[in-house]
Amino acid sequence: MSVPILFQSSVFSLNPTRPPFSPSLLPATTPQPSPRLPAPSPTRPCFLPAPISCASPATSESASPDVDVVIIGSGMGALTTAGDLCQKGLKVGVLERYLIPGGSSAQFSRPGYRFDVGASMIFGLGTEGSTNLLTRALATVGRAIPSIPDPVQVRYHLPDNLDVSVARDYETFLDNLSSLFPHERVGIRKFYDECWSVFNSLNLMPLRSLEEPRYLLSIFAKRPLTCFNVLRFIATNAGDIARRYIKDEKLLKFIDVECFSWSVVPADMTPMINAGMVFSDRHYGGINYPAGGVGRIAEEMVEGIREHEGCWVRLRANVKNVLFDHSGRACGVRLATGEEIRARAVISNATRWDTFDEGGLVPTEHVPEAENRFRDRYIKSPSFCSAHIAVREKDLKVSMRAEDGMDCHHIMLDNWDDMEVAEDARGTLFVSIPTILDKSIAPEGMHIFHVFTPSWMHEWKGLSSKEYKAKKQRMLDTMVSRLERELVEGLSSAIEFAEVGSPRTHRRYLGRVDGSYGPVAGKRLNGLLSMPFNRTEVDGLYCVGDSTFPGQGLNATAFSGFACAHRVAADLGFIETLPQPVDDWLTKLLGRWRLLL
Ligand SMILES: Cc1cc2nc3c(=O)[nH]c(=O)nc-3n(C[C@H](O)[C@H](O)[C@H](O)COP(=O)(O)OP(=O)(O)OC[C@H]3O[C@@H](n4cnc5c(N)ncnc54)[C@H](O)[C@@H]3O)c2cc1C
Repeated sequence: MSVPILFQSSVFSLNPTRPPFSPSLLPATTPQPSPRLPAPSPTRPCFLPAPISCASPATSESASPDVDVVIIGSGMGALTTAGDLCQKGLKVGVLERYLIPGGSSAQFSRPGYRFDVGASMIFGLGTEGSTNLLTRALATVGRAIPSIPDPVQVRYHLPDNLDVSVARDYETFLDNLSSLFPHERVGIRKFYDECWSVFNSLNLMPLRSLEEPRYLLSIFAKRPLTCFNVLRFIATNAGDIARRYIKDEKLLKFIDVECFSWSVVPADMTPMINAGMVFSDRHYGGINYPAGGVGRIAEEMVEGIREHEGCWVRLRANVKNVLFDHSGRACGVRLATGEEIRARAVISNATRWDTFDEGGLVPTEHVPEAENRFRDRYIKSPSFCSAHIAVREKDLKVSMRAEDGMDCHHIMLDNWDDMEVAEDARGTLFVSIPTILDKSIAPEGMHIFHVFTPSWMHEWKGLSSKEYKAKKQRMLDTMVSRLERELVEGLSSAIEFAEVGSPRTHRRYLGRVDGSYGPVAGKRLNGLLSMPFNRTEVDGLYCVGDSTFPGQGLNATAFSGFACAHRVAADLGFIETLPQPVDDWLTKLLGRWRLLL
């Protein structure tokens, strides 16, 4: 049965007559930039370097920076950086091209509904340890949001009738998996315990910039054994550790899917540090759904940032390019409107390709050689074809109650060989039904399904409008029929409306090259350390978000945000560092070592 698609071409777009959320988040008509750098204060130490002047290439005039730091984009990496910098006393401006903040972690509204644009399975909202980075990001701007604990991270529906639920309780999960692979009971525990070893070490440290030597030395001095334990894993991938303990090929395939579900590469290509975080934190801080929808996190961050004096967030502010001074240092940005904003540091939350590739934010003559290294090692992962579906509960033939065993998150695969396939909705199918946890985001008696599967941009290029619509319809029908067959009987006749987004939609509304989910290793790399950190080879220009260490995921981008804020604040003199020559020398040494990996 074919499911009608409504609002076909407008997924993620908003009804202009209806504000999507609180009016205070609507674009400020006038920015509130700080006109000049404030005088040194107790939060602005005396080792603050003199303000730079920034000669506009167009006018050659000098101008005082409008803010200390300008950030391009408002994804979770950007908002975390901005929150932490505001808290440290810097004047920060955030420029977002779209009309809602949050990028892939935003939400869009339809009458009565709040749909998560991308992420729905949320790590990092726990209350303990140091890895609860979303809770910490919110705290930098004095905010907290209630969240709803998810008793099951995800239920896998895999080939050979392999049906595995990952319970919040670790022992329950191990028992469940071991009952399916009794001959591997010991190996299963050893593998996942190694993940805990990584996680427990990370969870003892304040997570900051790995390219700030004073911080690194201080944590080495305080916790040498913990640091050595992290180093033990830093150049390994999850597949290496899994094969050390597990021999059963089907179980190894399960671990591949476990990794693929967030890293979009198999275990052999997934860094062990990330696997340790994900496979343990789901049992430690757990998966928690933000009450009111995932976009609430970005909305609260924006409101909190705006409360800091001299800090602002502007929506519908499309940055065209980064500006440079006569010495080649990044010193501001130019918007598509021609407006220029000066800053002492510029941070790009756009993808690496949208920042440095031809036509990107950095003009070709300023793109450093070092970017070739990134291109050589990392490739774009596919985008997604996603459907946001409103479903009438009364017309379904299954119970949608959590008490009856319906889970929020599901991953489906029909053939092991299709795990990485990104064509015709044959590959891995991701399903989130957030209304299982939070009924407030849909009208009474209705459910929200977010169903998506990897898809390449090239498949959607060059289609006529009719062909494009027909392709969306085919993809929707395939996804719905797979879901109906496996889990939700009666789904196709219970659909109120569905909106389908293609890679073109992701490109258009999320501002991401080819709609890509982000960088993945193009060849086998040793762990995670060759992923770019926040500094770039361009003076004054930094990157943040999932194109930087440690990669994709909301909590991961919050990590990159804290790391970026730390390094930027250190470079601008807001945090004490080692004496500059030593700091420079050690940072370069670390950079060289990373290149060897
Ligand atoms: C379908 C889908 C499902 C996902 N599910 C999960 C999940 O369940 N759990 C999880 O943890 N993660 C999930 N993720 C991944 C996670 O959402 C992302 O890794 C993370 O949100 C990326 O954050 P970011 O900081 O890199 O920025 P992005 O979210 O990419 O935001 C960047 C922002 O910059 C803006 N921008 C770009 N260029 C410009 C410019 N020139 N001027 C102004 N603004 C600009 C964009 O409009 C955008 O708002 C999912 C992603 C997708 C797409």
